[in-house]
Amino acid sequence: MKFLHSITFRVTLWYLAILGVMMVLLGIGVYVTLSNRLYHHLDVSLKERAEHLSEFRDVLSIIAGGMFEDQAGEYITFYYYEGNRLKHIAPKDNVFPMTREVIDRVLSGETLFENVDIPQKGLFRVLISSFTPDNPVVRPDQFRRERQQPNYERRRDGGFKSPPRRDDRPNRPPPPDYKERYDPRMKVTSAALVIARPTKDIESVLRQLFHILVIAIPLTLLLAGGGGIFLAHRALTPVKRISDTARQIEESDLSRRIDVRTKDELGFLAETLNQMIERLENAFKRQKEFTSDASHELRGPLAVIQAEASLSLRKAREPQEYKKTLKVISGEAERMAFLTNQLLELARMDADKEPDVSESINLKEFLQNICSDITILCQEKNLELQTHLLSQVQIKGDRKSLQRMFFNILNNAIKYTKEGGTIRLALEEKDHMAEVSISDTGIGIQKESLPYIFERFYRVDKARSRSEGGSGLGLSICKQIIDVHKGRIDVNSQMGKGSTFTIKLPIITN
Ligand code: ADP
Repeated sequence: MKFLHSITFRVTLWYLAILGVMMVLLGIGVYVTLSNRLYHHLDVSLKERAEHLSEFRDVLSIIAGGMFEDQAGEYITFYYYEGNRLKHIAPKDNVFPMTREVIDRVLSGETLFENVDIPQKGLFRVLISSFTPDNPVVRPDQFRRERQQPNYERRRDGGFKSPPRRDDRPNRPPPPDYKERYDPRMKVTSAALVIARPTKDIESVLRQLFHILVIAIPLTLLLAGGGGIFLAHRALTPVKRISDTARQIEESDLSRRIDVRTKDELGFLAETLNQMIERLENAFKRQKEFTSDASHELRGPLAVIQAEASLSLRKAREPQEYKKTLKVISGEAERMAFLTNQLLELARMDADKEPDVSESINLKEFLQNICSDITILCQEKNLELQTHLLSQVQIKGDRKSLQRMFFNILNNAIKYTKEGGTIRLALEEKDHMAEVSISDTGIGIQKESLPYIFERFYRVDKARSRSEGGSGLGLSICKQIIDVHKGRIDVNSQMGKGSTFTIKLPIITN
């Protein structure tokens, strides 16, 4: 039952159906062509025979005189009208029967080829054509005496004795019924010539061919079916292996790979599926890490809140002490709120609820506005803020998310730069892109960490980042916002000297 639903079975069935139809059509074609050729050949030879007879002098007299030697199995009959009566002349009186209607048609000018089945004699191919004798007066007696073959005798010297002279030959009596049928003075001006030849040779060849086809076609289909099942089964074995492996792969075990190494389409499919499984494995891994990192991040402030609260509840405390505890609790709650907001934001972007990035924005003005907020933060930390906004460029984007992105990077620059340092914000147009670079003279990022800083929860120095209020999510959110705006972000950094973040965004060209 399972086999009946398999591709192997269906492919083989289709293949057999097509092959079967083709073979039957081919068989019919061969049979019909051969049959036509053979009958055509026979018809040509019947025509030649008719032409030959028409060239025969006094053919009717010869036949009537019984001197005509017909070919084996062949029937020759001349039909003619005497008054209203249909009469015939045939060698040895072997008359081939014909209907008056056919004879009339031929006498009126038609030439016919027909297949006639004579009981006990079999099938005949018959040519019926009109015949005009060269000598209308039929004289059977003229040829009657010539019926006997000349009697050649071998002489002693190896030659032949000449046949006996006409007068010496025995004068045989005419056949008993001869006079009744042939009037020596009869006149035949037009006749219908009927030449019939048995088709048993053709029929036997065609029968043989039919038998060969009847045996060969099913046999070929049987062999082709067996071969088809074998080949289809072989060809589809890798598919089974792919589906078996795919069934074994579970969410928890995405490390398995499909073991099909062929260089064909199935090998390509297996490779594509393996790449997909690898991507899924990485995605699941990232999701797992993300969940554990997120819970870890949330557990920290929660533990602090819990500890602070239970410690202060242990005994009665001074209002000052309660104030201090509440301040700590409030700070941790704030951290948690901040983290939860960031997580929510990421989740929203992951769920494809991307911001609408169709608003046209003048980037120079936009960055100038952000600078006014940042200036206060810089002043707080005694940092110099340099701005080099050289180009007037228009971009398309979402104002809110772009603001968050630039603010995050500038805030990082402030966070990781010691007092007295410099923050530089520049805007240029390069290769039809708006290029915004944010540089600082801060602590820098070590080379090994650079490839990971855009990953979620990645922090170069966990303790330091935490104390600065960082969660390790800021840059990954920035990267996601830039991706949505079809831009890119690069970072260059030197330990102890500072870092430069370069953001490229496509500009609107008129
Ligand atoms: P965080 O909230 O911890 O700052 P981010 O995703 O914004 O997280 O940054 C990831 C890490 O990259 C930070 O922990 C920090 O170590 C490093 N980093 C980011 N910006 C700078 C910078 N301007 N200078 C030095 N280190 C930086």
